[in-house]
Amino acid sequence: MTPTPSAPVPDGLSPATRVVALGREPAAPGAQVGAPLVLTSTYHAGGDVVYARTGNPTWSAFEAAVGDLEGGEALVLASGMAAVTAALSLLPHGGTVVAPDVAYNGVVSTLAEREAEGSAVVRRVDVTDTDAVVAALDGAHLLWLESPTNPLLEVAELPVLLAAARDRGVLTVVDNTFATPILQRPLEMGADVVVHSVTKYLSGHSDVLLGVVVTPATDAGRALAARLVTHRTLHGAIAGPMEVWLALRGLRTLHLRVERANANALVLAERLAGHPAVVRVRHPGWGAIVSIEVTGGADGADGVAAATRIWVDSTSLGGVESQVERRRRIEHEPAQVPENLLRLSVGIEDVDDLWRDLARALDRA
Ligand SMILES: *Cc1c(COP(=O)(O)O)cnc(C)c1O
Repeated sequence: MTPTPSAPVPDGLSPATRVVALGREPAAPGAQVGAPLVLTSTYHAGGDVVYARTGNPTWSAFEAAVGDLEGGEALVLASGMAAVTAALSLLPHGGTVVAPDVAYNGVVSTLAEREAEGSAVVRRVDVTDTDAVVAALDGAHLLWLESPTNPLLEVAELPVLLAAARDRGVLTVVDNTFATPILQRPLEMGADVVVHSVTKYLSGHSDVLLGVVVTPATDAGRALAARLVTHRTLHGAIAGPMEVWLALRGLRTLHLRVERANANALVLAERLAGHPAVVRVRHPGWGAIVSIEVTGGADGADGVAAATRIWVDSTSLGGVESQVERRRRIEHEPAQVPENLLRLSVGIEDVDDLWRDLARALDRA
């Protein structure tokens, strides 16, 4: 990890309190209260960090806060995909990875490329079929999980799968972007690595792209972290300090945003199930992403997305603003995703305003 300027916080505090307090410089008369934003490419010789591709105090502040939330040690990278690529660097050349057949399309495409060039063998599984996933683990090197999955919102039995992988010596990575550490902490369930697109809920304001990898604060976890640090330094996919500073500011309110967005999503999922233009609602009962299938196929779904006035018709998710997107309009979206599926990223607005806007768009479809 990057040497941290972060002042320690007292033990026994809840995560909501810790994430507000962490990543600040030690208290001293006249010291700044806000987190440091350090814009420099190099440092005076003689310190622990000599060049800013290997470390930055703003990274350290953010990493202290995210690491604490996930119960491990964090490394910030330039995007969620940079974090995915870093985590996949732990797969030996030509190694076998067990992965969901439908997941975030960047991960699906990366694995297909690795397979095509012969640098990985990919075993694709239905993550909801626990027995099938476990059966696929024998002789594998890495288990890649995403739960709930993007955009079908399928939930994997993480504790069972992570334990089965551990028994077989298979390294595990969990993409925790959809759940956030407020709702799910995979390291506590035995995962070796957690990855996030910080772009989504952690930063929460649709203004930066960033990623993070988190590893356990154990000897084994630190050995993985050392490899990930080397990857970050040598591949150069480092984060800009300004973006990281913005992400830390967003992270301070993660609890409030997740709480409100989840409450909104529960209400909307229930109301959507009763709307005649909605054929299917996917929502695991928690989290703030709801996927719906609507009547009228792809055109029907496009019409709904185009007719909303508050919901923003745009890709991405996890921001304060509610977003709607027909996923299959994206070129690389897996074909298993229905053409008429709209992914709703429920924001923190007034739930009745959100409902009226969506219901009006659905009525017109
Ligand atoms: C968006 C996303 C990513 C990729 O993150 P970027 O910040 O866009 O590079 C990875 N995993 C999931 C689940 C995502 O939603």
